[in-house]
Amino acid sequence: MSLEHSSLSRRSLLTRAALGAGVLASGLSFDTALASPRPAVPRPRKRVLRVAHLTDIHVQPEKRAGEGMAACLKHVADLADKPDLILTGGDHVMDSFEATFDRTKTQWDLFTKTLADGLSIPVRSTIGNHDAWGWNKAKSNTTGTENSWGKAWAVDALKLPARYYSFDQAGWHFVVLDSVFPNGDGYLGKLDDEQAEWLDADLAKLPKGTPTLVLSHIPILTVTTSVYTKPDKDNNYNISGSLQHCDYARIKSIFEKHNTVKLCLSGHMHLIDRCDYNGVTYLCNGAVSGNWWKGRHRDCDEGYAAINLFDDGSFEHEYIKYGWKAETK
Ligand SMILES: [Zn+2]
Repeated sequence: MSLEHSSLSRRSLLTRAALGAGVLASGLSFDTALASPRPAVPRPRKRVLRVAHLTDIHVQPEKRAGEGMAACLKHVADLADKPDLILTGGDHVMDSFEATFDRTKTQWDLFTKTLADGLSIPVRSTIGNHDAWGWNKAKSNTTGTENSWGKAWAVDALKLPARYYSFDQAGWHFVVLDSVFPNGDGYLGKLDDEQAEWLDADLAKLPKGTPTLVLSHIPILTVTTSVYTKPDKDNNYNISGSLQHCDYARIKSIFEKHNTVKLCLSGHMHLIDRCDYNGVTYLCNGAVSGNWWKGRHRDCDEGYAAINLFDDGSFEHEYIKYGWKAETK
């Protein structure tokens, strides 16, 4: 026996002895452990994208809202783990729904300037109800024939390819919905037929298993409606179609048909919640403006969400307060 062979044999015995100690500790027999194939180690998931979701900014010249929006953008940019993408969730301006041309222009100009000054991360946006100019014609003094009337102003100011659209990034598919449906002088959370058919066709084109994130302003599904709704005289909750998508059943059936949607993000409620239903997680992510720049709103501080997306379609979510102190007077 050569010295080398002897050394190897000794190492081998020591390895077996060490393994034996482990096996004894685990309660398995030595022979079973040696005969069993090594258990398959699951491939660790890999983070592919980090997203910040800033919703309900409601910028206006009053209540230091422009400063607050700038502070929030700075907070996102200064995060040690800086996001790759910002999604803005609608209601970018305080209100243009009932506002005149001049008042609407003042708010969008402030939004555009503040965003340009503070932005160091690519941004994608969706339209909120307060972003639709002049839908209340009497209060906004509009006729409905103005070039920028309705959602056109927001599409232009937010540089959207259309009022609803989709894109792909880092192996995920992103669907950006326009969830604001006209209803007299008001609105409903609802997709028009054209958009619902587009959603169905858009998801149908995806390779099987492509994880999909859906962004809307009004929640598709939320538990926060009960916070805003009092039971009626018969003790029933009648949920307003302006608080949550009243066409949830239609959207659910489209999601079910294609089975790619993992995560839906919304705003509108200025509250935080999470619903897990039928394989989809629905997150309502508070408000940058809190109580429309008057402080904490009910159970929710001014903030935004950070979401890590992984290559296996999973995600991590966190609501981050950016420390805004609202005017008290
Ligand atoms: Zn809203």
